[in-house]
Amino acid sequence: PALHRQRHQFVIDFVNRNKPKKVLDLGCSECSLLKKLKFNRDIELLVGLDINGAKVKKHMHGLAPLSTDYLQPSYDQLRIELYQGSVTQKDSRLRGFDLVTSIELIEHLSLADVELFSAVVFGYMTPVAVIVSTPNSEFNLLLPGLSGFRHSDHKFEWTRAEFRSWALKVCLDYSYEVEFTGVGQAPQEQQDSVGFCSQIGVFQRLGGRNGSNMLLGDEAEDVFSYTLVSKF
Ligand code: SAM
Repeated sequence: PALHRQRHQFVIDFVNRNKPKKVLDLGCSECSLLKKLKFNRDIELLVGLDINGAKVKKHMHGLAPLSTDYLQPSYDQLRIELYQGSVTQKDSRLRGFDLVTSIELIEHLSLADVELFSAVVFGYMTPVAVIVSTPNSEFNLLLPGLSGFRHSDHKFEWTRAEFRSWALKVCLDYSYEVEFTGVGQAPQEQQDSVGFCSQIGVFQRLGGRNGSNMLLGDEAEDVFSYTLVSKF
């Protein structure tokens, strides 16, 4: 299967195992992951955020419930919200989720903005779990005809060691633990030397849902920096 489908399937498998009730997809783009997640019966709140509000608006229509969806018991449990805004900015409406996904997003940020992303997502939103995927640059030698990055908008592509060192620092700074995996396998004899095509970190908050809440003073106040694009 195509790589983007494998990344989304990875998230869906995680959701089926862990049954999060509130799920937030960062850089939701064409809403394709959200459109798959809306069929999960455990999710009560499904939210997408992207800096490109026009793109979200253009592709969100398949997200609206079909009239037949209402025939399904428990469908009315699902609420969907789409926001335009940047992951570098805080918004108190997106705090306290069970799962935040960031699929092929961070490599579109400058390294300074990746630092802000870490602080906003892990330090402020404080979700129970976070799934981050990003290209593994060690795999690039297996991609025919590629010179430079996989996409012209990428600001960086990390080796496994670079991703690891960012992720471990996030864990230290914000009290998470992480496991590394990926999707898109190299031929058997090259798997160890190049790793996965897309590398994935699965972060879990230490102490789970009741992990220490470090928000103090003004951090506890409401902040609205994103714009609601649509709500179903
Ligand atoms: N997650 C999508 C998927 O799995 O199909 C693909 C993501 S696409 C490669 C990257 C997305 O990140 C784009 O839609 C882009 O508009 C968005 N993006 C870039 N910078 C952002 C930022 N600072 N805040 C929120 N979204 C951002």
